[in-house]
Amino acid sequence: MDRMNELIELLNKYAYEYYTLDRPSVDDAEYDRLMQELIRIESSHPEWVREDSPTRKIGGEVISEFVKVTHDVPMFSLGNVFNEEEIRDFDNKISKVFPKHEYVCELKIDGLAVSLEYKKGVLFRAATRGDGTVGEDITHNVKTIKSIPQKLTEDVDITIRGEVYMPKKSFERLNKYQEEHGEAKFQNPRNAAAGSIRQLDSGIASKRGLDAFLYHYPLTPFKTHYKSLMYMKKLGFVVNPNIKLCKNVNEVLSYISEWTEKRSSLPYEIDGIVIKVNDIAMQQELGYTAKVPKWATAYKFPPEHVLTRLTDIIFTVGRTGQITPNAVLEPVRVMGSTISRATLHNRDFCIEKDIRIGDYVYIFKAGDVIPAVDRVEFSRRNGTEREFEMIKYCPMCGTELKQKPGMVDFFCENVHCPARKIESLIHYVSRDAMNIDGLGERIMEDFYNYGFIRKISDIYKLNSKREELIELEGFGIKSVDTMLKNIEDSKKNSLDRLLFALGINGIGAKTAKILCKYYSDIDSLMNASAEELASIHDIGPVLSENIVAYFNNEGHVEEINELKSLGINMTYTGKQIIEDENFKDKKFVITGSFDNLTRDEIKAYIEERGGLTSDSVSKKTDVVLVGEAPGSKRDKAIELNIPIWNQDKLFEIMGIVEK
Ligand code: NAD
Repeated sequence: MDRMNELIELLNKYAYEYYTLDRPSVDDAEYDRLMQELIRIESSHPEWVREDSPTRKIGGEVISEFVKVTHDVPMFSLGNVFNEEEIRDFDNKISKVFPKHEYVCELKIDGLAVSLEYKKGVLFRAATRGDGTVGEDITHNVKTIKSIPQKLTEDVDITIRGEVYMPKKSFERLNKYQEEHGEAKFQNPRNAAAGSIRQLDSGIASKRGLDAFLYHYPLTPFKTHYKSLMYMKKLGFVVNPNIKLCKNVNEVLSYISEWTEKRSSLPYEIDGIVIKVNDIAMQQELGYTAKVPKWATAYKFPPEHVLTRLTDIIFTVGRTGQITPNAVLEPVRVMGSTISRATLHNRDFCIEKDIRIGDYVYIFKAGDVIPAVDRVEFSRRNGTEREFEMIKYCPMCGTELKQKPGMVDFFCENVHCPARKIESLIHYVSRDAMNIDGLGERIMEDFYNYGFIRKISDIYKLNSKREELIELEGFGIKSVDTMLKNIEDSKKNSLDRLLFALGINGIGAKTAKILCKYYSDIDSLMNASAEELASIHDIGPVLSENIVAYFNNEGHVEEINELKSLGINMTYTGKQIIEDENFKDKKFVITGSFDNLTRDEIKAYIEERGGLTSDSVSKKTDVVLVGEAPGSKRDKAIELNIPIWNQDKLFEIMGIVEK
């Protein structure tokens, strides 16, 4: 279960970076690999499945700067298949229900999904997918995309969905511009498109050369998806010209091999092929899981692999003391950048793949972030290669490495290990933690090595070194003063940021917030017992022990006291939990609509009182709130014998008097 919890924390973090910040820190292949591992664990232990598992969630958080749009019909993600066997499996499942069926195959455009609402044929509103139920209003930016019609050829009220993307040419032009103007370059066209469409100023999006293909008509009156696409074309939408009607799975497979070959000749990026059952009645019968349709799936292209020689293996130490083997490579170009290092994940990976120093290896990188080694080209071995050997001692401090029970990774448990210190200091100032601008990774490393910052409290003492800092290469009065001001400003951060920044094992940004709802200042948290902590929903026994152990460490207490005396805020400035036994620790599912209250308002009300909400009814649900025109969730609640509150009951508990 530890591994499952670890994967959930990691994948949720990656999804936040990818969807909300448009700034992924790992490539898509690595994300997909971890997701597949989580799916495997969850399917062999369905009783462990957590409500907040990324296998049950679509997309990312909706950021507050945008007006929220509730989708009339939810926007779904797609399941993934990665090889022929999985494609045939997908087809077999459908054949069991419908022995004879056709597919429509489409290119999977690497952009971001949008929903376009037309009233009487005029573009009324455009929204992002968001979390599938609620998206962000991006009408102002979508209006700048020339290929999206402002007015259709018929005066219809209609919602159509598709993908906004950035053509390769626009992407190159944009990055050239960014480079010339000293701005950060975008990692890939998908991030560039997402970053451009989620701008408050439409002047920016209009200059970025965005484009769109439309591929879905949610409430189509037509009998087939193919006919819907033809109708969409007639209305004036750009439908991708490479769609193909396939009579059986073999035709699907040849379409896939054709486009695997031709993919790079397209003027835009695609990351796979979408396979959809053509018949709409069949689609409805097959239905959906919590996250994806059962009538469609996405075949994902394998990431691009490049062969090069692995000349050495070096080991790095991360913030938690985790040791990672890394391949030193003969420099090679992969998807537009030169790569000389790649991760080898851990010892088991190296042994399983039999990776040796001197081998030729295939490396890949799907999202332009950390490249990884895929496999060895055994035919190029000449007998001089040296077998992989795991180190026994930390490369930085010489402490003996330990493997935690049930985990593949090795750790240096010396909390004073210099490598670990630098990493934890970098984490402390990072954006999601204390968010101190001007203290980037390289600067933190330099400051550590110069002896300016050896522990967290030193950050707040940098002002005494102002003159020295100004003299450093690359610094000046202005940049030093801005940095010092940012450090000073960060003292006011809410306690949840500080808790996350301290790097307590197992406390991610979300867990830190949960803790703060129960403990509004650090002293009350430091005094909490493990039992008390474990009674909080979402804080398990392992985490409780970690927290208590952290605060029992004298060194940590000393450092916290030092931070206090330097004026760092130690209280939570967000919202507090309101005591209400009707909601506390209970899981709610909402279906249908309620008078004068949106579902989001009801959700917020529940969460403020320590309750949880989820989108699907399961045995673990405590109450289903049933409003006007409920969906199948009401039937499920009856089937599972779960208490139902109708509007009258809910309003009575909430103390709302109806007029
Ligand atoms: P997805 O990308 O696997 O597939 C669903 C999406 O495909 C749809 O929402 C739609 O936007 C798009 N699409 C493109 N062409 C389409 C077509 N013709 N018909 C229908 N849909 C089409 O699912 P997702 O939830 O959007 O994203 C999950 C993927 O995103 C992961 O598999 C991973 O590759 C990537 N991801 C990466 C990170 C990271 O940190 N690198 C984090 C989160 C997600």
